[in-house]
Amino acid sequence: MEMQFKPIQLPGVDTKRPIVIAGPCSAETEEQVLETAHDLAARGIKIFRAGIWKPRTKPGGFEGIGSEGLLWLRRVKEETGMYVATEVATQYHVLEALKYGVDILWIGARTTTNPFAMQEIADALKGADIPVLVKNPVNPDIELWIGGIQRIYNAGLRRIGAIHRGFSSYDEKVYRNAPQWHIPIELRRRLPDLPIFCDPSHIGGRRDLIAPLSQQAMDLGADGLIIESHCSPDYAWSDKNQQVTPEVLDNILKSLVIRETHTTEDISDLRNQIDHLDNDLIDLLAKRMRVSREIGQFKKEHDMTVLQATRYDEILGNRIEKAKAAGMDGDFMKVVMQAIHEESVRQQMTVLQNK
Ligand code: PEP
Ligand code: MN
Repeated sequence: MEMQFKPIQLPGVDTKRPIVIAGPCSAETEEQVLETAHDLAARGIKIFRAGIWKPRTKPGGFEGIGSEGLLWLRRVKEETGMYVATEVATQYHVLEALKYGVDILWIGARTTTNPFAMQEIADALKGADIPVLVKNPVNPDIELWIGGIQRIYNAGLRRIGAIHRGFSSYDEKVYRNAPQWHIPIELRRRLPDLPIFCDPSHIGGRRDLIAPLSQQAMDLGADGLIIESHCSPDYAWSDKNQQVTPEVLDNILKSLVIRETHTTEDISDLRNQIDHLDNDLIDLLAKRMRVSREIGQFKKEHDMTVLQATRYDEILGNRIEKAKAAGMDGDFMKVVMQAIHEESVRQQMTVLQNK
């Protein structure tokens, strides 16, 4: 399906990269919202975020202040002149947010995962002209992400953006949600005029990762950043480990190096993409080796030989066919698979030799 998007232009907001959205994970109290907003506004932030309804993984935590907080956002607008953004997950949220004059809506990762919820939101948005940012689904499924965007588009909205907030995984991890940069890169390739925001707070889950992740996003040509900022991060009611004060945020933003050309024709951008893709390849290979070692452990416990020849032939044949179908040379894939197999065998042998 062909989609043509309009840029997220707001009067008074510079369209120069990055467009910055900042504010607390959650609106907690009227004082916390206003103190944070005034500090951010004084530092030049033009778009304020705050979660009013919070999708929490487990019950019992703070699940958001609800509609009352929309009055606080209205005060933020009146007192600071900033635009305000919040997350919507149901028809009720959309109607409430529109009623109270929220300027930008975003859809959370857990919601994008559910087509019923996305359709309900899209239906509630019919006829509205408001920018909507769609976060990636929690699982690394680009089709589900694009499908969610299509539902909003089909409701008649054109100022749509995507937010890359990383993907959950079971592995021991540096990141709260693995960035898997190849997915937003592919989204840019598939929908070149769709504005893409990066959410380093939810990718990193840690304050110290916000700056390097923001820089990576900028190097990959992201249009904007959405960053969690709180007047007293250590006392935040949700996501405290990843929130920074407006002052720290300001320093992070000032430290970013923004390379001006970011079209895909630009060679440095393409080289950056290659660097990130190679990093992803190395991560994937490391995961594959870890699984190999687990297989080695299993074989050791069950007295099996390391080399199971029929299994190897099967893998080789199957991967070569897949590579050919994806437009690569069969002999090339054979060499790659042989090298990977050699290293896997070596890793399994070390497991077997470890008494
Ligand atoms: C948020 O932005 O506070 C949020 C809940 O994000 P996500 O949907 O990415 O977890
Ligand atoms: Mn959060």
